[in-house]
Amino acid sequence: MSHKPETLALHAGWRADPATGAVAVPIYQTTSYQFQSAEHAANLFALKELGNIYTRIMNPTNDVLEKRVAALDGGVAALALASGQAATAFAVQNLARAGDNIVSSTDLYGGTWNQFANTLKDQGIEVRFVDPEDPENFRRATDARTRAYYAETLPNPKLIAFPIGEVAAIGRPLGIPLIMDNTAAPIITRPFDHGAAVIVYSTTKYLGGHGNSIGGLLVDSGNFPWEEHAERQPALNTPDPSYHGAIWSEAVKPLGPIAYILKARTTLLRDLGSCMSPFNAFLTLQGVETVALRMERHCANTSAVAAWLAKRPEITKVFHPSQQAGVGKQRAEKYLRGGQGGLVGFELRGGREAGPKFIDALKLFYHVANIGDARSLVIHPATTTHSQLSPTEQLATGVTEGYVRLSIGIEHIDDILADLDQALKTAG
Ligand code: PLP
Repeated sequence: MSHKPETLALHAGWRADPATGAVAVPIYQTTSYQFQSAEHAANLFALKELGNIYTRIMNPTNDVLEKRVAALDGGVAALALASGQAATAFAVQNLARAGDNIVSSTDLYGGTWNQFANTLKDQGIEVRFVDPEDPENFRRATDARTRAYYAETLPNPKLIAFPIGEVAAIGRPLGIPLIMDNTAAPIITRPFDHGAAVIVYSTTKYLGGHGNSIGGLLVDSGNFPWEEHAERQPALNTPDPSYHGAIWSEAVKPLGPIAYILKARTTLLRDLGSCMSPFNAFLTLQGVETVALRMERHCANTSAVAAWLAKRPEITKVFHPSQQAGVGKQRAEKYLRGGQGGLVGFELRGGREAGPKFIDALKLFYHVANIGDARSLVIHPATTTHSQLSPTEQLATGVTEGYVRLSIGIEHIDDILADLDQALKTAG
């Protein structure tokens, strides 16, 4: 479908239930699917035909969510997973094996940092962290065993847009795909338009949008020439013993350019089992239907809050793309085309002591470890989301002791500002 995002969010991947005519996507709450014949079953398992086998690896409700988000991002296929963390792990493990490395931006969600610095390391995959201020840092950290680059589109706390095009352009001639976590910027940024090869989402955030379901998604652009880089990308170009020696970049030829996502589904999801439940896929689809509208309001409210905070005497610094100069401003203009996001951070003059006072004084905002809910949310990253990082690691990601992060909801702006006002006065 070549419709605009607002339309795709409502229509892509589904018209009506062929059996009943139901317009809302049904929840296919089933573990398995009746095969038409023994031959049909054998063909499905051999990937000679694509079809439903078992809900751990595919489900018709999840399928609509996958198709819809792939359409929104201009990709060819997607894979729904149990959480954003599962999507991140799969994104990397699909290409990198023990002894390999990836190069990642330092500006990451704390959970991703931990996964990279500890769990993937224990599995033998090295993650080399580099400062994205200079895109050339990615090239400098690359060697023959580098399988991917990884970054977030609009990483908090710094909220400086990532140079997607610049880093994708460094990787492409080397055969290195850029994986973008676009969790904080659906609709407003389309990473594939700038050369990214794979997108990761925590659907828990803006795509779901209502704080009711943990979920993740991988989206395949279908635009990365895996076959041209056989040496660089052995996982997709050498026989896979777990699938009768299938070479994924060749096996998918009759199916389209979906080698990356098909391998993730048929090997990692089969073996590790982090599937999204169909019920969560249904709830996430309800969110996706309104994501374009919500992003508009999130962005408008957040820009208004950032401008208002910047004038407050209790605040020393505001973190939001609208407050940036130089390279941050240029990147925001280039990459955040549909708005500047729903997150804003700030530092209180009162520092470490004022932070908790301010948070406890808020009445409308929820104090939770989440972002992207329709409701306004607040958190103090140094003692929560980023608390398992060392002080040096915290600073590398941009978390300081006095930093407070707001995820601005879609309430009326007057009510949001009134709550912030009374809390700032209380915190002093
Ligand atoms: N990526 C980003 C940018 C996040 O903010 C989060 C969660 O906060 C994740 C990934 C992980 O997602 P999940 O909590 O759904 O596992």
